[in-house]
Amino acid sequence: MSRATRPDGVAGQHDDYYYHAYLLHNRFHFAKNVPAHSLVVKREYSPRCTRLAQRGRVADALMGIVFIITIFGIVVLHELGHALAARRYGIRTRDITLLPIGGVARLERMPEDPRQELVVALAGPAVNVALAAALLFLVLPTMQFDQLGRVHVFGGTFLLNLFLVNVWMAAFNLIPAFPMDGGRVLRALLAMRFDYVRATQVAAGIGQFLALGFVVAGLLLPNPFLLFIALFVWLGAAGEASMVQMKNALGGIPIRQVMITNYQTLAPNDPLSRAVEHILAGFQQDFPVVDGDRVVGVLTRADLLAALAQRGTDALVGEVMQRDFMTADPAEMAETVFNRLQECNCHSLPVVQNGRLIGILTADNVGEFLMIQAALRKATPPKLQFSGT
Ligand SMILES: [Zn+2]
Repeated sequence: MSRATRPDGVAGQHDDYYYHAYLLHNRFHFAKNVPAHSLVVKREYSPRCTRLAQRGRVADALMGIVFIITIFGIVVLHELGHALAARRYGIRTRDITLLPIGGVARLERMPEDPRQELVVALAGPAVNVALAAALLFLVLPTMQFDQLGRVHVFGGTFLLNLFLVNVWMAAFNLIPAFPMDGGRVLRALLAMRFDYVRATQVAAGIGQFLALGFVVAGLLLPNPFLLFIALFVWLGAAGEASMVQMKNALGGIPIRQVMITNYQTLAPNDPLSRAVEHILAGFQQDFPVVDGDRVVGVLTRADLLAALAQRGTDALVGEVMQRDFMTADPAEMAETVFNRLQECNCHSLPVVQNGRLIGILTADNVGEFLMIQAALRKATPPKLQFSGT
């Protein structure tokens, strides 16, 4: 399928809102929280670093830095695990971001099949388990216990620490708190038995309950990292639950009911000044370009602004429009097309029937449709709403 792209940075407020929603929806956010790592780092390196640095031994301080860089390398491998598993199901990863508390791989969409979600969620921790096993294999031959049960490792504790980091990363991320890996595993398992919305609500509820546990633990220890994670988990769980609810509200509704039917089109031979007139006269941001009956391209507001800056108002629409774009069929379900809108990261899709343009679908008008649905639900008399339940 062809793909239309739109340069970022020209989106209006409405775009930003939806973009945020996509982020919440698309993200595999994983708190690879590093309280344990930081403990390891602090206990094993920092005090020693100061002491040894006083003695002029810079080598150990450097070792500490190498250790921290290695931890972030492990975080990247963990995220690559998710990304590679997702790629198996044809889901691309937009980017991987490193944060002080871990990493985030942003997938273009969520795996819909619970089994696929299970595999993608488990792939990250699986990388850590594999690394831990490999490190243990390297460390074991050099490990000895003294009479007090303390571990002695010959050749430094670097590998042992890396082993512990991996064990911690796998274990922490498998805590069943949405949106951590464990929460997604839980949701996938629940979704095999219950419907997706119910499964998400239960998993999100458990996640928020555990977030409260993180708050208590964070205050008692005290550990500010845990408080931060608690906030992350709480917001992530709430966002995931509302996104799934929204997609459920769109389920079973054909595009024909949601699309915009009152819109302007352009012809390939129109000058850009015509597009400017349309933009100023209305709310429309993207314009289907129609040649006779056929849609031959899309002119987005971003394309228009870029072309105006370079070539002025006399350039022709056909010279600057996108020829590679996605379309929707009026009979398709809104939920499917909404996923496509997210995937292509574009603002609108022309709705085409038998090659003829019959409407436009934008993220804004999907949002408006949902608001109207919600308002109508509220309008039902309370008697009806609560009867029999
Ligand atoms: Zn993960």
